[in-house]
Amino acid sequence: MALMNRETTQSNQEPHDVVIGAGVCGLYAALTLARAGRRVTVLEKEAFLGGLAASPVANGTPHDFGVHMLHGFDEELLADLLQLMGGASHPVALHAAIRWRGHSVHYPLRFMDLIGSLSPIELFRSISGLLIAGLRTRFSPPFTAADAEEALIELYGEPLYELFFETFTHRYWGVHPRGLSATFIKSKMPRLSAIDAIRRILRRIGLPMRQPSVESALEDETLHYSSKGAATLPESIAKEVCRLGGEILTGCELTRIEHSSGEIQGIHFRHLGEDRFILPAALISTMPVGPFSMLFHPAPPPDVCAAVGRLHHRPMAVFGILVDKPKCNEALYTYYRDRIFHRIGEPKNAGLSVKPEHATLLIVEVMCFRGDAVWVGDDSAWNQVIQEAAAEGWFQPDQILNRHHARAEHAYPVFDKGFERNLGILNEWLAGFTKVRSTGRQGGFCYPNMHKAMRMGEKAAQDW
Ligand SMILES: Cc1cc2nc3c(=O)[nH]c(=O)nc-3n(C[C@H](O)[C@H](O)[C@H](O)COP(=O)(O)OP(=O)(O)OC[C@H]3O[C@@H](n4cnc5c(N)ncnc54)[C@H](O)[C@@H]3O)c2cc1C
Repeated sequence: MALMNRETTQSNQEPHDVVIGAGVCGLYAALTLARAGRRVTVLEKEAFLGGLAASPVANGTPHDFGVHMLHGFDEELLADLLQLMGGASHPVALHAAIRWRGHSVHYPLRFMDLIGSLSPIELFRSISGLLIAGLRTRFSPPFTAADAEEALIELYGEPLYELFFETFTHRYWGVHPRGLSATFIKSKMPRLSAIDAIRRILRRIGLPMRQPSVESALEDETLHYSSKGAATLPESIAKEVCRLGGEILTGCELTRIEHSSGEIQGIHFRHLGEDRFILPAALISTMPVGPFSMLFHPAPPPDVCAAVGRLHHRPMAVFGILVDKPKCNEALYTYYRDRIFHRIGEPKNAGLSVKPEHATLLIVEVMCFRGDAVWVGDDSAWNQVIQEAAAEGWFQPDQILNRHHARAEHAYPVFDKGFERNLGILNEWLAGFTKVRSTGRQGGFCYPNMHKAMRMGEKAAQDW
């Protein structure tokens, strides 16, 4: 799709604002610029809008990239977005589950579920571990965790670390917690409100338990979703950008960003088979920050290139399975700790319109490495996904009507040890350019949800 609101070929010669990437962050940045009366062009690599929040249609049904629903934490932003979506979105009560030791428990994990799912010995060890962690915080000198393992043990104690976090974190990230930065704990933590409940009790009896920096999910949360899938949100923002005179070019291949003395001299790209050029008045990039800097010509200095080479992402694949059943489950999504997949979503339970109507769609999220069987989506990966989902009771293999495989190389930035230094070197170099911002989930190398990514885009657009 190419959404254009201008005769671009001639007018692109004039300097104007450029946003790279039409995910929610880039689109909201473009909207902020357009609302301020500025001329903006969005350059998107893919043929579709939305980035991670896209919902390409396959077999007649939109396929989200994993569970993608809008949180309502930022009320002001939510009001704006609901208006932009014009009734195409509806509220959905959070109803999610964790499969744990053969049965389903509520997500976020509740206090009573935790007690019910642990043996008396495990419970005793877990609470003792938390107590010891609290006593250590109270009586030991301040301590800086060297890695994610130490940070988790400091927060939750050793037994809970071993029980909940160690193997799952390792599988999820492909890196043992000892190889992850302690910063990871502040930014991306499984939300276990049950453990927070115990920590609250311990705080009440005077133990100064360290606070996890990631908010616990609310037990009752209202999400927002559309019968046409997650992409309704980015597509509605894009429509408004174009209505206000902006243009969005999909299918762009950026070839180089020329610069001199800290000023951007031009963005070169190919679009619809033509070589194109824009002189940006200001540039906001929401593409991955490493590859963004590698587009610069002349190239960044060697230490910056080396730092870019040391920043990694964890790719993810989504196996979409259309099942000949009106419904497989009640929950919006279910987490797994010991399967090939870590989450299965059933977006029909959130109101997705599925074709044919008597079927349901399962969105199965699987972490992977570039080039492995899951990434490629070969038969061995499909067989394992189907076998394990069938073993969990989702369907019988002969009920599968259709399958679809999607993947994202930059699904999750990896906060491995030392990433702060590498990111710092890169950001310092980028800060030397006037009117250039790298932001959003990819541009900022961080884990915002959609509402936070949009606020990041807005902030970048308000910087000049
Ligand atoms: C599995 C999963 C589930 C999630 N679920 C939720 C959820 O339920 N709720 C929620 O609020 N958040 C959720 N998130 C987070 C949410 O997806 C992100 O916060 C948000 O989509 C980030 O938007 P962005 O625009 O910053 O990045 P992206 O969506 O990654 O957008 C970046 C854009 O840049 C484009 N691009 C890349 N390279 C180039 C290039 N060379 N030239 C031009 N364009 C380029 C990409 O194609 C893409 O469109 C989830 C994330 C994942 C991975």
